[in-house]
Amino acid sequence: MVKRSRCTGNGISSPYDTNEASRPLLGGRFKSWWDLQTMPPLDWMQIEVTTRCNASCLYCPRTTYRHSWDSRDLSLENFKTLLPVMADTKMIHLQGWGEPFLHPHLFEMIALAKKAGCKVGTTTNGMLLDRDIIGRLVQSGMDHVAFSLTGIGEKNDLTRQGTNYARVLQAISGLAEKKRALRVETPTISVAYLLLRSHLPDMDKLIAELAPTGVQQVVISTLDFITQKDLWNEHLYPENKPEYRKLKNLYEELRQEAAQKGIDLHYNLVLPGTESGSCTENPRRALFVSSDGYVSPCVFANIPAAGVSHVVGKEESGYTKLTFGCVAEESLPAIWKNRRYRGFRKSFESRPYPLCRKCPKRCGASTG
Ligand code: SF4
Ligand code: SF4
Repeated sequence: MVKRSRCTGNGISSPYDTNEASRPLLGGRFKSWWDLQTMPPLDWMQIEVTTRCNASCLYCPRTTYRHSWDSRDLSLENFKTLLPVMADTKMIHLQGWGEPFLHPHLFEMIALAKKAGCKVGTTTNGMLLDRDIIGRLVQSGMDHVAFSLTGIGEKNDLTRQGTNYARVLQAISGLAEKKRALRVETPTISVAYLLLRSHLPDMDKLIAELAPTGVQQVVISTLDFITQKDLWNEHLYPENKPEYRKLKNLYEELRQEAAQKGIDLHYNLVLPGTESGSCTENPRRALFVSSDGYVSPCVFANIPAAGVSHVVGKEESGYTKLTFGCVAEESLPAIWKNRRYRGFRKSFESRPYPLCRKCPKRCGASTG
């Protein structure tokens, strides 16, 4: 069942509106205005438009936790409360734990965000991108689209059940073709490639497979959130320095091959035994808004399932969400500034919250 937001939006206007009806609210309006003025610009905001999906990828929390999964769409009214902050945000990414193109108002959200003045991107499993959607997407002014893949050919289809490798490649080619036909540069097209340990032997084929589609960028990631012990072996963090060097060489070779075909390749490789005071999700200058309107530092902090566990350092551990407020109840700038959220950011380096302490994203990394 799809759930909707609980209360109405809280659009922010001038605090100096002094007509009779608004007088009792003056203090509140002034605070809203002040909170917005004093909020630092964000590097990005990730907004989960839906937790529904038309696929069942084996490693996805949505598949493992399907019995307690909360399927819901972000309401337009909650989305609109974010617009004042978007005006000063470099990029918004419309995706969380679900397939964004299932949302009935996705294109309206893209239009609103573009009007607010920020760049807009999304990640999709590609299965809904037919000619019509591709045409609308190019005309929407969307800046960036990433297509998810995990494995080449049949291996992708076995791992990402409900998706089809050939159709995803076809959608990428169709999008590249439409851009050429309309002589536009956007959206830029990337592949978000999740590399599992068991798929390592196929990596030498990756660039040759993707290059003919017109993809411009490939981003290789590894399995970070492990929902069950069976998946631990698919986790690809080097255990020691020789393994680290082997992976680094593989990625660098791929990067050179990609560059020769005009593709940018990026990866994030964890150096064993290191820990950093930061993480790739940039929690001091970025945030995640889930489809029920709750604000968290990242997508891992608000998985829409209750009473579940995940695997941390080979052991099962109860999963606890980390949220700081809901945009259905207070403005995003007010949430950003609340005492708990400020405390989280302040102590992130020295005394991180339990969820962040063993998070692989926090480990020192070699990024290319
Ligand atoms: S497409 Fe994305 S949201 Fe859907 S099951 Fe796969 S990983 Fe999960
Ligand atoms: S350390 Fe992990 S859980 Fe904490 S903010 Fe970064 S990515 Fe999210």
